[in-house]
Amino acid sequence: RVKEQGKNGYLFYTSEMNDRPLERITLENDMRIALTKEEFELFYQPQVDMNSQQIVGVEALVRWNHPERGLISPGDFIPLAEENGFIVALGTWVMEEACRQNMKWQNIGLPPIPVSVNLSVRQFEMKNLAETVRDVLIRTGLEPRYLDLEITESMTLDVSRASHILKKLKDMGVAISIDDFGTGYSSLHYLKNFPIHRLKIDRSFVRDLEHDPNDAAIVSAIIALGHNMNMQVIAEGVETEDQLLFLQKHRCDEIQGYYFSPPLSCQRFEELFRRHCKQEVTQM
Ligand code: C2E
Ligand code: MG
Ligand code: MG
Ligand code: MG
Repeated sequence: RVKEQGKNGYLFYTSEMNDRPLERITLENDMRIALTKEEFELFYQPQVDMNSQQIVGVEALVRWNHPERGLISPGDFIPLAEENGFIVALGTWVMEEACRQNMKWQNIGLPPIPVSVNLSVRQFEMKNLAETVRDVLIRTGLEPRYLDLEITESMTLDVSRASHILKKLKDMGVAISIDDFGTGYSSLHYLKNFPIHRLKIDRSFVRDLEHDPNDAAIVSAIIALGHNMNMQVIAEGVETEDQLLFLQKHRCDEIQGYYFSPPLSCQRFEELFRRHCKQEVTQM
């Protein structure tokens, strides 16, 4: 069968398999051996500074190279992994791989930038998240300021516990971003209680920015809120120049989205990053 490659290299026919119990069981079993068989891979999407247009960060996004199913998107296995607890092992692997790769880029002379890693609520339930992060940083040699952890508001966190862990991480020098900001139930609660360094405006607000006055109002309000609280603001899912111009006008700090680049394999991201740095040098 010829399989259609999606924008992120996904194969589309995997999307409904969560509904089929037998498939689901197979997938759960496969998942557990996939780590040892090195079937997981990180893709990298650049985060670009609005003013300088430089790559100032990168988000690591996991994919699964399944031997029979091809490249599976995180939307198709992260929810399962969260249910069965596998996300804890996978999450640690993702963090270590992202930090190690980031260190490699620094070692070959690319400008140091933070790598963003998505955290699942299940990882907060581990007693030793802060220690795990510290160990990963020690093992990989990456300075804490080059790691950014993304948390989402859908996480039903015990606020006092979470703020304790997040404060530990902050004191270590690790940055904390709120991902998908505005889509959860406790956005402002998070801002009030957690040491947050950056807001990521969810792409559902960015998508119709040019046509929907509500979205435009929400986005400009999030930017103002972030800045009033001394946070950086990045917009996700930026696909068009009009969206970019709106965000620029409202002083959004950074953008991430297909407009600049989709998530890329490690090698392709490195090529893009190198090319980008060279351009900067020749422009000066
Ligand atoms: P996210 O953290 O909000 O990541 C952004 C998602 O938006 C990525 O989807 C990315 O490919 C997609 N995206 C980026 N730019 C655009 C754009 O311009 N337009 C559109 N339509 N989409 C864009 P992806 O890679 O499929 O990841 C989906 C979600 O899976 C992530 O959302 C994140 O919540 C989760 N995820 C991915 N990797 C990990 C991981 O290592 N651990 C955990 N816990 N979750 C992960
Ligand atoms: Mg994210
Ligand atoms: Mg997001
Ligand atoms: Mg997300």
